[in-house]
Amino acid sequence: MGSDVQANYFDGIHARAHPVTLQVVDGALHILGDGVQRRIALAGVRWPERTRHGMRVTQLSEGGELHCADSAAWDAWSRQQGLTESLTVRLQQSWRGVLASLAALLALLGALHTWGLPLAAQASLLVLPQSVDIGLGEVTLHAVDTQLMRPSQLPLAEQARVQAAFAQAVAHLPTEDVPEWQLVFRSSRIGPNALALPGGTIIMTDELVYLVERDTDVLTAVLGHELGHLQHRDGVRMLVQTTLLGTVGSLLLGDFSSLLAGASALLGQAHYSRTAEHAADVSAVQLLQAASINPTAMVTLFDKLAVVREAQNTDGAAEAGPDSWLGIAFASHPTDVERIRFFQQAGTGR
Ligand SMILES: [Zn+2]
Repeated sequence: MGSDVQANYFDGIHARAHPVTLQVVDGALHILGDGVQRRIALAGVRWPERTRHGMRVTQLSEGGELHCADSAAWDAWSRQQGLTESLTVRLQQSWRGVLASLAALLALLGALHTWGLPLAAQASLLVLPQSVDIGLGEVTLHAVDTQLMRPSQLPLAEQARVQAAFAQAVAHLPTEDVPEWQLVFRSSRIGPNALALPGGTIIMTDELVYLVERDTDVLTAVLGHELGHLQHRDGVRMLVQTTLLGTVGSLLLGDFSSLLAGASALLGQAHYSRTAEHAADVSAVQLLQAASINPTAMVTLFDKLAVVREAQNTDGAAEAGPDSWLGIAFASHPTDVERIRFFQQAGTGR
């Protein structure tokens, strides 16, 4: 009680470090410093992994980070506050723990197989710890960064503007409906696109921002769709459903590393079901309506993407290429008439 620790706070927009004092009171993290006063529910805090040496970096769901160079002081404090007591955090401390729980889960899944795969996948998501989503997301982001994308060229102020517009829209949703998310920008040779990775990272390409002439309503519509995928845990659901079932055997034999490598590649190649896409569209419309943004903003994007595709086709140069890597990304599916009509009708209130 009353114990605190010193750290540096970064607001996620500016590079400046703010020295702050951290306290946990009534289930919330209080960040106090010169000009800084934030209170964040513990559920919105991604604590650092204790296995890492050196700097402790804590990510905040509403943006921003806490850095603590004194890892011994940090660890003592977090232990004292009981912050490492949750099952999820303990599992995060070891990949082996995470994957062992995944193995146990898959054994269960195998037993449920007779019930039908979608139902078994649904059941297994309920017991699959969030740390697995986060781990898969980290692995996939690494693959994306090494194979497909480059650092964003978008000015930081522009990134912050898009992020703020989306955060403002999301604030209209009931908090229990909002999964953990963080928005990152990348420059990409796959052109205008966006995708959500398991665990909460949404990647938006610079090219998408420019395609829609930086219209934050349209970008919020896309991000709302991606937030829907996060809310429904579609990435992990798809992995469980389509690929992992067959690997129960090798998992139980302890062949974890190859599974992990495979999971990232498979996530790149697979795509969401039509049902999952529609559910994400429904989530997007809910968000847009809650934030008083006309859902036809999404139709604007569909139109612009159609023009891009047309140009690629007549070019002939942009063959399949790396597109196949990103089946789960927004622009990778041709837009069908039904999707367009769905947003149009939501826009006119019919
Ligand atoms: Zn989608």
